[in-house]
Amino acid sequence: MGYPSFFLDRDGTIVEFVHYLVNEEDLRIPREVLIGLKDLAARNFKLIVVTNQSIIGRGLAEVSAVLDLTKILLRKLKDEGVTINLLLICPHAPSQECYCRKPRVAMALFADEVIGIDFPNSFMVGDSLSDMKFGAEMGMKTVFITRNAEQSPNANFNAKDMIQASRWIIENSSRE
Ligand SMILES: [Zn+2]
Repeated sequence: MGYPSFFLDRDGTIVEFVHYLVNEEDLRIPREVLIGLKDLAARNFKLIVVTNQSIIGRGLAEVSAVLDLTKILLRKLKDEGVTINLLLICPHAPSQECYCRKPRVAMALFADEVIGIDFPNSFMVGDSLSDMKFGAEMGMKTVFITRNAEQSPNANFNAKDMIQASRWIIENSSRE
């Protein structure tokens, strides 16, 4: 059966959206994200980050730079009481047509291999249409963080920020 889990996008969802984010000084975690994630972490769900980093495949950043920034992000979250159980990166450019770039689902399948996921009782939270498609494809419930009234046919709920997202998830999760 596996664990009910929260799948989270990184850029624009956990951290403020910055084009080709690679420098620590551009890494900003909004207050409402920390509040929302703490609420989720307290519920004992697995927290899994799935992020497309075509910045690597496009040759705009070294793998090591992306991994360094990832470590900083994980430490910042941990310092705030939020432990990420698994973080998966697709390093490919769209032209490489890999199976891991969202909305393709290889990262979800890999998470299932490593942790064991109860997909029908899991959630995908993200700010892009590909995140919603990824979640729907795996039979998860989906929460769309919308900033500009964009709509997704695959979103079960539209939230303005992570606080709203986490409240809806907690209300709609079948676990205590
Ligand atoms: Zn990939």
